[in-house]
Amino acid sequence: MALNVNSEKILKLAEKYKPEISRFLRDMAAIPSESCGEKKVILRIKEEMEKVGFDKVEIDPMGNVLGYIGHGKHIIAMDAHIDTVGIGDRNLWDYDPYEGYEDDKIIVGRGVSDQEGGMASMVYAGKIIKELGLEDDYTLIVTGTVQEEDCDGLCWQYIINEDKVKPEFVVLTEPSSTNIYRGHRGRMEIKVTTHGVSCHGSAPERGDNAIFKMAPILNELKDLNERLIDDPFLGKGTLTVSEIFFSSPSRCAVADGCTISIDRRLTNGETWKYAIEQIKELPSVKAAKADVEMYTYERPSYTGLKYPTECFFPTWVLPEDHKVCQNAVNCYRDLFKSEPKVDKWTFSTNGVSIMGRYNIPCIGFGPGHEDQAHAPNEKTWKDELVKCAAMYALIPVTYVNKFADK
Ligand SMILES: [Zn+2]
Repeated sequence: MALNVNSEKILKLAEKYKPEISRFLRDMAAIPSESCGEKKVILRIKEEMEKVGFDKVEIDPMGNVLGYIGHGKHIIAMDAHIDTVGIGDRNLWDYDPYEGYEDDKIIVGRGVSDQEGGMASMVYAGKIIKELGLEDDYTLIVTGTVQEEDCDGLCWQYIINEDKVKPEFVVLTEPSSTNIYRGHRGRMEIKVTTHGVSCHGSAPERGDNAIFKMAPILNELKDLNERLIDDPFLGKGTLTVSEIFFSSPSRCAVADGCTISIDRRLTNGETWKYAIEQIKELPSVKAAKADVEMYTYERPSYTGLKYPTECFFPTWVLPEDHKVCQNAVNCYRDLFKSEPKVDKWTFSTNGVSIMGRYNIPCIGFGPGHEDQAHAPNEKTWKDELVKCAAMYALIPVTYVNKFADK
């Protein structure tokens, strides 16, 4: 196989397209695209995909953009969520977050690392595949997905269940500093509610105070966090209380309701049932007869589509010796003549549904750095955008030739 020849040509072409990749990324970053408001950036991506020669570009009813290359048997997907978070405190930025900034090495702007950079590299990988004739017995689907920052993985629940797209594996292009990532902890959003009876605050003995009932629960949750199980690869499960709400008829009354939100990070082996039961079993929760439940998410997408889901985002880990991981390692060595670092993300990605719920193998490789995500002066690196474009162009053809079942 002439893969060595290809890998040099691929790198050269990726380098040649650095200005186009940078331009496209800055165009995307200039369009505000917070979750549920991504329409304009989706249309911009569609335009670029069509320009570089994708065979087919579709926008599904949820508003995700799907660009197709090839017509082969093996369905391979590469994903970038193209919603971003807000800008936060504008005074913390040295540049306009949307207009951004650029020099020879870096690009600054909201979303450049998390993670429109992945989108820019993927589209130009498509162009490289077309130009170098790297098409083979595969269909590559490049997805620009919505609402990830709000509800990770929901877009892919829709793509798998409703668009009926079921890839053999998915490359996640979230920022990985061009390391190969093969998993991360899952998470869930839990609600605990205590109930009481209100009465006049001047005679609290007549009532039953829901806030006082929450106090021992808070203490036991703090202890529970210390006792959560550990995993050698993913680390320890954690929990923290993120919000507290009350209901009370007046400031001069006994409170009749109290609710807390818990951000629970799940490590290997922790399911949602396990995490909920753990809290239900706390003595203080039993004594207070508190309700323990999972939140649901049902915010409509920018197209108006509602696709309600539980706020449960399962843990996933791809074994290091899995062929999808080995394929990525192989491509990395081939292109960059060095050993990749194989590791994990700290944050969460669309892998929670793709692999966490549906067991479709995921592998991560993306431009930009995780610590840039959601931070002021968010930046990314042009040489990483180029590296990623080259990797994405090589991954499908190598997989089909060396690793796929024939
Ligand atoms: Zn992200």
